[in-house]
Amino acid sequence: MKRPKIYFVLPCYNEDKCLKQTYCELDRKCRNLLKANKISPESKIVFVDDGSKDRTWEVIEALERNNDNVVGIKLAHNVGHQNALFAGLMFAGEEADASISMDADLQDNLSVVDGFIDRYGDGYEIIYGVRGSRKSDSRFKRWSAQMFYGFMHVLGVDLVYNAADCRLMSKRAMQQLGEYSEINMFLRGIVPLIGLKSTTVEYVRDKRLAGESKYPLKKMLSFAWDGITSFSVKPIRLVLAVGVLVFFLSLAIMVYALIRWGTGQTVDGWTFTICSIWLVAGIQTMSIGLIGEYIGKIYSETKRRPRFFVEKIIGEKGSAKK
Ligand code: UDP
Ligand code: MG
Repeated sequence: MKRPKIYFVLPCYNEDKCLKQTYCELDRKCRNLLKANKISPESKIVFVDDGSKDRTWEVIEALERNNDNVVGIKLAHNVGHQNALFAGLMFAGEEADASISMDADLQDNLSVVDGFIDRYGDGYEIIYGVRGSRKSDSRFKRWSAQMFYGFMHVLGVDLVYNAADCRLMSKRAMQQLGEYSEINMFLRGIVPLIGLKSTTVEYVRDKRLAGESKYPLKKMLSFAWDGITSFSVKPIRLVLAVGVLVFFLSLAIMVYALIRWGTGQTVDGWTFTICSIWLVAGIQTMSIGLIGEYIGKIYSETKRRPRFFVEKIIGEKGSAKK
Protein backbone atom coordinates (compact mmCIF):
# COMPACT_ATOMS: atom_id res chain seq x y z
CA MET A 1 0.00 0.00 0.00
CA LYS A 2 1.30 3.44 -0.86
CA ARG A 3 2.15 5.75 2.01
CA PRO A 4 -0.97 7.78 2.83
CA LYS A 5 -1.02 11.55 2.69
CA ILE A 6 -2.31 12.43 6.14
CA TYR A 7 -3.70 15.84 7.11
CA PHE A 8 -3.81 16.56 10.83
CA VAL A 9 -6.78 18.87 11.44
CA LEU A 10 -6.75 21.06 14.54
CA PRO A 11 -9.50 23.60 15.26
CA CYS A 12 -8.11 26.50 17.30
CA TYR A 13 -9.95 29.10 19.31
CA ASN A 14 -7.81 31.47 21.34
CA GLU A 15 -4.96 28.97 21.52
CA ASP A 16 -1.95 31.28 21.03
CA LYS A 17 -0.35 29.90 24.19
CA CYS A 18 -0.35 26.30 22.93
CA LEU A 19 0.16 26.41 19.21
CA LYS A 20 3.96 26.54 18.98
CA GLN A 21 4.44 23.59 21.28
CA THR A 22 1.58 21.73 19.63
CA TYR A 23 3.23 22.21 16.25
CA CYS A 24 6.67 21.11 17.51
CA GLU A 25 5.33 17.91 19.00
CA LEU A 26 3.14 17.09 16.03
CA ASP A 27 5.96 17.85 13.62
CA ARG A 28 8.25 15.52 15.57
CA LYS A 29 5.59 12.83 15.32
CA CYS A 30 5.31 13.40 11.54
CA ARG A 31 9.08 13.11 11.12
CA ASN A 32 9.12 9.81 13.01
CA LEU A 33 6.28 8.47 10.89
CA LEU A 34 8.06 9.62 7.74
CA LYS A 35 11.26 7.92 8.85
CA ALA A 36 9.31 4.74 9.48
CA ASN A 37 7.89 5.08 5.95
CA LYS A 38 4.34 5.16 7.28
CA ILE A 39 3.09 8.49 5.86
CA SER A 40 3.72 10.48 2.71
CA PRO A 41 6.11 13.48 2.84
CA GLU A 42 3.21 15.56 1.51
CA SER A 43 1.35 15.17 4.81
CA LYS A 44 0.35 18.43 6.47
CA ILE A 45 -0.72 19.97 9.74
CA VAL A 46 -3.86 22.06 9.21
CA PHE A 47 -4.73 24.71 11.78
CA VAL A 48 -8.27 26.09 11.52
CA ASP A 49 -8.53 29.43 13.30
CA ASP A 50 -12.10 29.65 14.52
CA GLY A 51 -12.32 33.46 14.68
CA SER A 52 -9.91 33.74 17.62
CA LYS A 53 -9.67 37.04 19.45
CA ASP A 54 -6.05 36.60 20.59
CA ARG A 55 -2.87 36.16 18.53
CA THR A 56 -3.72 32.67 17.28
CA TRP A 57 -3.78 33.66 13.60
CA GLU A 58 -0.45 35.51 13.86
CA VAL A 59 1.10 32.38 15.36
CA ILE A 60 -0.34 30.23 12.56
CA GLU A 61 0.99 32.68 9.94
CA ALA A 62 4.47 32.54 11.47
CA LEU A 63 4.37 28.73 11.58
CA GLU A 64 3.30 28.62 7.93
CA ARG A 65 6.07 31.01 6.93
CA ASN A 66 8.80 28.94 8.56
CA ASN A 67 7.61 25.42 7.79
CA ASP A 68 6.37 23.85 4.62
CA ASN A 69 4.09 21.31 6.26
CA VAL A 70 1.69 23.88 7.75
CA VAL A 71 -1.65 24.98 6.32
CA GLY A 72 -3.68 27.73 8.01
CA ILE A 73 -7.39 28.25 7.45
CA LYS A 74 -8.86 31.39 8.97
CA LEU A 75 -12.61 31.38 9.48
CA ALA A 76 -14.26 34.78 9.26
CA HIS A 77 -15.82 34.51 12.72
CA ASN A 78 -16.25 32.11 15.59
CA VAL A 79 -18.55 29.28 14.51
CA GLY A 80 -17.81 26.79 17.28
CA HIS A 81 -15.59 23.74 17.60
CA GLN A 82 -17.79 21.38 15.55
CA ASN A 83 -18.18 23.69 12.57
CA ALA A 84 -14.50 24.66 12.62
CA LEU A 85 -13.53 20.99 12.62
CA PHE A 86 -16.01 20.33 9.82
CA ALA A 87 -14.42 23.13 7.75
CA GLY A 88 -10.98 21.55 8.23
CA LEU A 89 -12.28 18.11 7.32
CA MET A 90 -13.89 19.40 4.13
CA PHE A 91 -10.54 20.88 3.11
CA ALA A 92 -8.67 17.68 3.98
CA GLY A 93 -11.27 15.60 2.13
CA GLU A 94 -10.21 17.21 -1.12
CA GLU A 95 -6.46 17.10 -0.60
CA ALA A 96 -5.52 14.16 1.61
CA ASP A 97 -5.94 10.38 1.71
CA ALA A 98 -7.00 10.59 5.34
CA SER A 99 -7.34 13.11 8.15
CA ILE A 100 -6.57 12.87 11.83
CA SER A 101 -8.49 15.38 13.91
CA MET A 102 -7.48 16.41 17.39
CA ASP A 103 -7.63 19.31 19.85
CA ALA A 104 -5.11 22.12 19.41
CA ASP A 105 -4.20 21.85 23.09
CA LEU A 106 -2.74 18.39 22.40
CA GLN A 107 -4.81 16.78 25.13
CA ASP A 108 -5.03 13.74 22.92
CA ASN A 109 -1.82 11.85 23.53
CA LEU A 110 0.08 11.57 20.27
CA SER A 111 0.77 7.87 20.74
CA VAL A 112 -2.77 7.37 19.44
CA VAL A 113 -1.57 8.42 15.98
CA ASP A 114 0.49 5.22 15.52
CA GLY A 115 -2.57 3.12 16.26
CA PHE A 116 -4.61 5.17 13.77
CA ILE A 117 -2.08 4.73 10.96
CA ASP A 118 -1.72 1.00 11.61
CA ARG A 119 -5.48 0.41 11.61
CA TYR A 120 -5.83 2.56 8.48
CA GLY A 121 -3.25 0.26 6.86
CA ASP A 122 -5.49 -2.68 7.85
CA GLY A 123 -8.26 -1.18 5.72
CA TYR A 124 -10.35 0.69 8.32
CA GLU A 125 -11.86 3.94 7.11
CA ILE A 126 -13.06 5.50 10.36
CA ILE A 127 -10.99 4.99 13.48
CA TYR A 128 -12.23 6.48 16.74
CA GLY A 129 -9.84 7.48 19.48
CA VAL A 130 -11.44 6.22 22.68
CA ARG A 131 -10.32 7.46 26.07
CA GLY A 132 -9.15 4.62 28.24
CA SER A 133 -9.62 6.61 31.44
CA ARG A 134 -10.83 10.03 32.42
CA LYS A 135 -8.29 10.58 35.19
CA SER A 136 -7.22 13.97 33.83
CA ASP A 137 -10.82 15.30 33.97
CA SER A 138 -12.46 16.99 36.90
CA ARG A 139 -14.95 14.86 38.81
CA PHE A 140 -17.79 17.00 37.46
CA LYS A 141 -16.70 16.54 33.83
CA ARG A 142 -16.40 12.78 34.34
CA TRP A 143 -19.83 12.55 35.92
CA SER A 144 -21.53 14.79 33.35
CA ALA A 145 -19.96 12.86 30.45
CA GLN A 146 -21.23 9.59 31.87
CA MET A 147 -24.73 11.06 32.26
CA PHE A 148 -24.62 12.34 28.71
CA TYR A 149 -23.63 9.01 27.13
CA GLY A 150 -26.21 7.18 29.24
CA PHE A 151 -28.95 9.62 28.28
CA MET A 152 -28.07 9.47 24.58
CA HIS A 153 -28.16 5.69 24.74
CA VAL A 154 -31.66 5.79 26.23
CA LEU A 155 -32.72 8.15 23.44
CA GLY A 156 -31.46 5.66 20.88
CA VAL A 157 -28.58 7.76 19.53
CA ASP A 158 -25.68 5.68 18.30
CA LEU A 159 -22.52 7.19 19.87
CA VAL A 160 -19.13 5.57 20.36
CA TYR A 161 -18.64 5.57 24.14
CA ASN A 162 -15.94 7.98 25.33
CA ALA A 163 -14.90 8.90 21.78
CA ALA A 164 -14.40 12.64 21.45
CA ASP A 165 -13.35 14.34 18.23
CA CYS A 166 -10.00 12.62 17.97
CA ARG A 167 -10.36 10.27 15.03
CA LEU A 168 -9.00 9.23 11.67
CA MET A 169 -11.25 9.49 8.63
CA SER A 170 -10.44 8.26 5.14
CA LYS A 171 -10.97 10.46 2.10
CA ARG A 172 -14.19 8.61 1.30
CA ALA A 173 -15.49 9.04 4.85
CA MET A 174 -14.78 12.78 4.75
CA GLN A 175 -16.48 13.17 1.40
CA GLN A 176 -19.53 11.30 2.66
CA LEU A 177 -19.55 13.49 5.75
CA GLY A 178 -19.78 16.46 3.36
CA GLU A 179 -23.16 15.12 2.18
CA TYR A 180 -24.65 16.01 5.57
CA SER A 181 -25.89 19.52 5.03
CA GLU A 182 -27.34 20.17 8.49
CA ILE A 183 -26.43 23.35 10.32
CA ASN A 184 -26.32 21.92 13.85
CA MET A 185 -23.20 19.86 13.43
CA PHE A 186 -22.82 17.19 16.07
CA LEU A 187 -19.99 15.19 14.57
CA ARG A 188 -19.93 12.48 17.22
CA GLY A 189 -23.45 11.54 16.18
CA ILE A 190 -23.06 11.98 12.44
CA VAL A 191 -19.79 10.12 11.88
CA PRO A 192 -21.19 6.76 13.08
CA LEU A 193 -24.10 7.25 10.63
CA ILE A 194 -21.65 7.15 7.72
CA GLY A 195 -20.99 3.48 8.37
CA LEU A 196 -17.94 2.08 6.53
CA LYS A 197 -15.40 -0.20 8.17
CA SER A 198 -14.59 1.32 11.52
CA THR A 199 -12.79 0.49 14.73
CA THR A 200 -11.44 2.12 17.87
CA VAL A 201 -8.01 2.79 19.32
CA GLU A 202 -7.66 3.41 23.04
CA TYR A 203 -5.54 6.28 24.33
CA VAL A 204 -4.91 8.40 27.38
CA ARG A 205 -6.12 11.97 27.41
CA ASP A 206 -3.77 14.36 29.15
CA LYS A 207 -4.29 17.80 30.63
CA ARG A 208 -4.31 20.69 28.16
CA LEU A 209 -0.89 22.21 27.36
CA ALA A 210 -1.80 25.78 28.31
CA GLY A 211 -4.74 28.16 28.47
CA GLU A 212 -8.24 27.24 29.58
CA SER A 213 -10.92 24.90 28.31
CA LYS A 214 -13.11 26.56 25.67
CA TYR A 215 -16.01 24.45 26.90
CA PRO A 216 -17.35 26.13 30.02
CA LEU A 217 -20.52 24.71 31.55
CA LYS A 218 -22.80 26.83 29.35
CA LYS A 219 -21.17 25.65 26.10
CA MET A 220 -21.07 22.06 27.36
CA LEU A 221 -24.79 22.11 28.07
CA SER A 222 -25.62 23.64 24.71
CA PHE A 223 -23.38 21.03 23.01
CA ALA A 224 -25.22 18.22 24.80
CA TRP A 225 -28.60 19.76 24.01
CA ASP A 226 -27.61 20.06 20.35
CA GLY A 227 -26.66 16.40 20.34
CA ILE A 228 -29.98 15.34 21.82
CA THR A 229 -32.25 17.52 19.71
CA SER A 230 -30.39 16.90 16.45
CA PHE A 231 -30.60 13.15 16.72
CA SER A 232 -33.68 12.10 18.55
CA VAL A 233 -37.42 12.70 18.26
CA LYS A 234 -37.96 10.60 21.37
CA PRO A 235 -38.71 13.66 23.56
CA ILE A 236 -41.66 14.42 21.23
CA ARG A 237 -42.82 10.81 21.45
CA LEU A 238 -42.74 11.18 25.22
CA VAL A 239 -45.25 14.06 25.00
CA LEU A 240 -47.56 11.88 22.90
CA ALA A 241 -47.21 9.00 25.35
CA VAL A 242 -48.03 11.27 28.30
CA GLY A 243 -51.07 12.56 26.37
CA VAL A 244 -52.38 9.05 25.74
CA LEU A 245 -51.78 8.16 29.39
CA VAL A 246 -53.65 11.22 30.66
CA PHE A 247 -56.52 10.51 28.24
CA PHE A 248 -57.01 6.96 29.56
CA LEU A 249 -56.60 8.21 33.12
CA SER A 250 -59.35 10.74 32.43
CA LEU A 251 -61.69 7.91 31.37
CA ALA A 252 -61.05 6.14 34.68
CA ILE A 253 -61.58 9.36 36.61
CA MET A 254 -64.82 9.98 34.72
CA VAL A 255 -66.12 6.56 35.80
CA TYR A 256 -65.09 7.33 39.39
CA ALA A 257 -66.74 10.80 39.29
CA LEU A 258 -69.96 9.37 37.81
CA ILE A 259 -70.13 6.68 40.52
CA ARG A 260 -69.74 9.37 43.21
CA TRP A 261 -72.40 11.45 41.47
CA GLY A 262 -74.73 8.41 41.18
CA THR A 263 -74.35 7.60 44.87
CA GLY A 264 -75.07 11.23 45.74
CA GLN A 265 -71.65 11.91 47.34
CA THR A 266 -70.86 15.10 45.45
CA VAL A 267 -71.60 18.78 45.59
CA ASP A 268 -73.25 20.45 42.63
CA GLY A 269 -71.00 20.90 39.57
CA TRP A 270 -68.08 18.80 40.90
CA THR A 271 -68.60 15.88 38.49
CA PHE A 272 -68.79 18.10 35.44
CA THR A 273 -65.70 20.15 36.42
CA ILE A 274 -63.54 17.11 37.20
CA CYS A 275 -64.56 15.27 34.02
CA SER A 276 -63.93 18.34 31.84
CA ILE A 277 -60.49 19.12 33.34
CA TRP A 278 -59.14 15.60 32.86
CA LEU A 279 -60.65 14.97 29.46
CA VAL A 280 -59.53 18.31 28.02
CA ALA A 281 -56.03 17.93 29.50
CA GLY A 282 -55.70 14.45 27.98
CA ILE A 283 -56.96 15.50 24.56
CA GLN A 284 -54.76 18.61 24.52
CA THR A 285 -51.55 16.83 25.49
CA MET A 286 -52.27 14.08 23.00
CA SER A 287 -52.90 16.63 20.25
CA ILE A 288 -49.66 18.47 21.01
CA GLY A 289 -47.80 15.16 20.85
CA LEU A 290 -49.46 14.32 17.56
CA ILE A 291 -48.57 17.69 16.04
CA GLY A 292 -45.05 17.14 17.42
CA GLU A 293 -44.81 13.84 15.52
CA TYR A 294 -45.36 15.73 12.27
CA ILE A 295 -42.95 18.50 13.27
CA GLY A 296 -40.40 15.76 14.01
CA LYS A 297 -40.92 14.40 10.49
CA ILE A 298 -40.56 17.87 8.97
CA TYR A 299 -37.40 18.34 11.04
CA SER A 300 -35.79 15.18 9.72
CA GLU A 301 -36.82 16.06 6.17
CA THR A 302 -35.30 19.54 6.36
CA LYS A 303 -31.96 18.05 7.36
CA ARG A 304 -31.85 16.27 4.00
CA ARG A 305 -29.54 13.62 5.31
CA PRO A 306 -28.26 11.22 2.66
CA ARG A 307 -30.39 8.07 2.50
CA PHE A 308 -27.53 5.63 1.97
CA PHE A 309 -23.90 5.21 1.01
CA VAL A 310 -22.65 2.30 -1.04
CA GLU A 311 -19.61 0.71 0.56
CA LYS A 312 -18.80 -1.56 -2.39
CA ILE A 313 -20.34 -3.20 -5.42
CA ILE A 314 -19.20 -6.60 -6.60
CA GLY A 315 -19.99 -8.48 -9.75
CA GLU A 316 -20.51 -5.33 -11.78
CA LYS A 317 -19.11 -5.67 -15.31
CA GLY A 318 -15.65 -4.14 -15.54
CA SER A 319 -15.36 -3.51 -11.81
CA ALA A 320 -11.72 -3.31 -10.78
CA LYS A 321 -10.41 -6.29 -8.85
CA LYS A 322 -8.35 -5.05 -5.92
N1 UDP B 1 -12.54 25.29 19.75
C1 UDP B 1 -12.92 25.93 18.58
N2 UDP B 1 -13.96 26.82 18.62
C2 UDP B 1 -14.68 27.07 19.77
C3 UDP B 1 -14.29 26.37 20.94
C4 UDP B 1 -13.24 25.47 20.90
O1 UDP B 1 -12.30 25.73 17.52
O2 UDP B 1 -15.61 27.88 19.73
C5 UDP B 1 -11.40 24.34 19.71
C6 UDP B 1 -10.34 24.54 20.78
O3 UDP B 1 -9.38 25.47 20.36
C7 UDP B 1 -9.75 23.13 20.92
C8 UDP B 1 -10.95 22.25 20.65
O4 UDP B 1 -11.91 23.06 19.96
O5 UDP B 1 -8.76 22.86 19.96
C9 UDP B 1 -11.59 21.68 21.91
O6 UDP B 1 -11.78 22.68 22.86
P1 UDP B 1 -11.25 22.55 24.35
O7 UDP B 1 -9.92 21.90 24.36
O8 UDP B 1 -11.32 23.87 25.02
O9 UDP B 1 -12.36 21.58 24.99
P2 UDP B 1 -12.13 20.49 26.15
O10 UDP B 1 -10.97 19.64 25.72
O11 UDP B 1 -11.85 21.26 27.39
O12 UDP B 1 -13.43 19.74 26.20
MG1 MG C 1 -9.13 20.23 25.01
